[in-house]
Amino acid sequence: MKRLLLIGNPVAHSMSPVMQNAALKAMRLNNEYSYETLEIPESGLREIVHAISIGEITGANVTAPYKTRVLQYLTRVESPAHMFGSVNTIFREGTSVIGCSTDSTGFLKALSEHGLKINKVRTLIIGAGGAARAVAFALAQSSASELIILNRTVDNARDLVATLKHHFRIKAEYGLLADYEQYLSQIDFLINCTPLGMKGAYERCSPIPAIPTTCDDLTVMDLVYNPRQTKLLEIAKEAGCKTIDGISMLVHQGAESLRIWTGESPPVAVMRNAVEASLRQGGPKI
Ligand code: NAP
Repeated sequence: MKRLLLIGNPVAHSMSPVMQNAALKAMRLNNEYSYETLEIPESGLREIVHAISIGEITGANVTAPYKTRVLQYLTRVESPAHMFGSVNTIFREGTSVIGCSTDSTGFLKALSEHGLKINKVRTLIIGAGGAARAVAFALAQSSASELIILNRTVDNARDLVATLKHHFRIKAEYGLLADYEQYLSQIDFLINCTPLGMKGAYERCSPIPAIPTTCDDLTVMDLVYNPRQTKLLEIAKEAGCKTIDGISMLVHQGAESLRIWTGESPPVAVMRNAVEASLRQGGPKI
């Protein structure tokens, strides 16, 4: 059996096993591949990468807090992930272990699915971690006209803007999340790339407390997908904004990882149905 893993800490909340195993079954690959979560301490990263290099493990998804910390053990990181320094997918070529990020692709496919055009769009990204980096680079590569990165820790937002400006000629600024209000009237698109709103301790939290009804032409996307309707999306709907939940991106980034490992086209609709069915029943037990 070819083993595919999701490594991180914690991993119990993840929808990936439900989604990937449904896809493998529909692709008639479930007798050849298995996908499971593995919660590991940081000291276990080197061993996992070694197991991939010798083919004992076929590939892995990487989640928090290891998306950046795993880089030191990889042979090579593909573009654009090497620019923003965060990977979510690992695979083998010969004895080389390669990292890439399918989050950027997943994000762009989700926008296209929702009919959102992003060239010449002013976007406010909340967060400056791995997901925010993948989203910011995807937008910069797609000619978004302006990015504003707001974060709880302003130094991390400043670092992200500096990295973006190093690679792209883009208008980008950063600030503290607490100062969000002054930006709302200047933007077309707002994306939450923090865990605020996620099932568990953050469930009834929103990264911003309110959106005025004067901002009703704003599109608001939440990368959080469990629950599907987050507090932020509730606030956005009440203000009359268009909303996009985190499921499309989840499904497309997962499909892209599976395509890399198997070389076959995954059934995106099957993956989406599996995620939606699981969420209707409350999602994975944490
Ligand atoms: P990460 O690298 O750990 O970054 C977390 C970000 O959230 C950082 O900017 C952090 O700010 C901020 N943050 C954390 N706790 C906060 C709090 N209590 N108040 C304000 N800001 C806080 O995580 P990630 O990989 O970027 O993931 C972020 C979220 O996106 C997660 O919920 C993840 O599940 C989701 N995600 C969804 C998809 C999808 O396909 N839908 C894909 C990737 C990620 P500091 O810099 O101040 O620590």
